[in-house]
Amino acid sequence: MPKERALDWIAKNKELIIEISDTIWGYAEVGLQEFKSAGLLVDELEKGGFTVEHGVSGMPTAFVASYGSGTPVLGIMGEYDALPGLSQKSVPHREPLKEGAPGHDCGHNIHGTSGMAAAIAVRMVLEAKKIPGTIKFFGCPAEETLVGKVFMIRDGLFQGVEAILSHHPGMFNVAGLGSSNAMNSMKFHFYGRASHAASSPTDGRDASDAVELMNIGVNYMREHVVQEARVHYVTEDGGHEPNVIPPYARSWYYVRAPERDQVEQIYEWVLDIAKGADIMAQTTHKVEFLTGCYNTLPNRCLSELVTKNMREIGAPTYTERELSWAAELNKSLTAVQKREWLRRSKRPNWEELMDVLVDRSIPDPWDEGEKGGGSTDVGDVSWNTPTLEFTTATGILGTPDHSWQFAALSGMSIGHKSLLFAAKAIAASILDLFTQPGLLGKARKDFLERTKGKEYRSPLPPDLKPPLNQLEPYPE
Ligand SMILES: [Zn+2]
Repeated sequence: MPKERALDWIAKNKELIIEISDTIWGYAEVGLQEFKSAGLLVDELEKGGFTVEHGVSGMPTAFVASYGSGTPVLGIMGEYDALPGLSQKSVPHREPLKEGAPGHDCGHNIHGTSGMAAAIAVRMVLEAKKIPGTIKFFGCPAEETLVGKVFMIRDGLFQGVEAILSHHPGMFNVAGLGSSNAMNSMKFHFYGRASHAASSPTDGRDASDAVELMNIGVNYMREHVVQEARVHYVTEDGGHEPNVIPPYARSWYYVRAPERDQVEQIYEWVLDIAKGADIMAQTTHKVEFLTGCYNTLPNRCLSELVTKNMREIGAPTYTERELSWAAELNKSLTAVQKREWLRRSKRPNWEELMDVLVDRSIPDPWDEGEKGGGSTDVGDVSWNTPTLEFTTATGILGTPDHSWQFAALSGMSIGHKSLLFAAKAIAASILDLFTQPGLLGKARKDFLERTKGKEYRSPLPPDLKPPLNQLEPYPE
């Protein structure tokens, strides 16, 4: 059986696969600086028989690896960027690997590696069984800043791909049907005039006043936009000393809402508010558009396929040692935190999971029509081709995303088991898509129903380049 051969390959190579994931976990490189992480994945894919196009879409750490020819063309996506500031050892208490350094607090070391391992396993089978078609692995940088895939989509790199799978470490083993928020990210640079704040205030025009007035305007706007919208900001530069009227100030905004057109409406309003702030503070400003993305479209056919394969493979089991490690980590989460986390998940009968550390069940998805608060550039891919991103249990129930706890779990054996389980589920599902005519048509039909009457337009201005130095590499 083709599938068994792929699963065997993953089982036989598990030490290598875990080593790659752990090495990327140790590198913990932030978005668009993932040179060593992408390099490691590329090396393995090349060794595994793939032809790799490096540095696609103007991003040195983005790549597309391909094997085979003709149709069908199927894809797997992998991410490998870390988050700034939350470095963590793989121990069940807070202890940074390197104080202040980035960490894999979203488990993208596993994300990239599960997809890579599955791609190589699929390629082995395609060759051995002479199955026609093309398998592509998309190396997608900077998911956390929503940069990688949205640029790759704008450049047409996903064109012709008939279905695409990706895996994200999570708390449940589930091929969900929920969605995420569409989003725009932009900075406002305000310019005023410096002067002594006490001896010559009448000469100055305060750029940080404009930042504050703009924030106030946006906070009054909130009442009049859809309730699900999320608008948040930070002041990146608000001046330096109180006795100098700041000639320059800068804020960074995210605008999120369930649908792309809602984001665009709110974004236009926010732009008007910035103009209003200029009138009030007698400043000028410039808008720097960083990126945007769509909400995610689920796919029922792909969800059913991945669920079936996860069940055939079976969820990992955990040793006593792993469970006592998890129990130790669990002490860092309060019962209230865990209860609210489970309630928010809306999983049916979530109360029964209060005493469970790592979930071993593989439930049917319960979240069709539900929206998570966050955003991902997987959304843009899902508007262009049938797409599914599923999760396998990496964290103990109640672990917040983007936390030191998640980084610790992503670098130890519970994370390793979720990685191997996910790689097998991807490989088996992709091989089903290659060998079972009809599945792709079903996935496409679902995709066409969800996109009917709606057109995907890249959120990015045509001349926008990826912000290559938006995040600084952490000094060695
Ligand atoms: Zn993530």
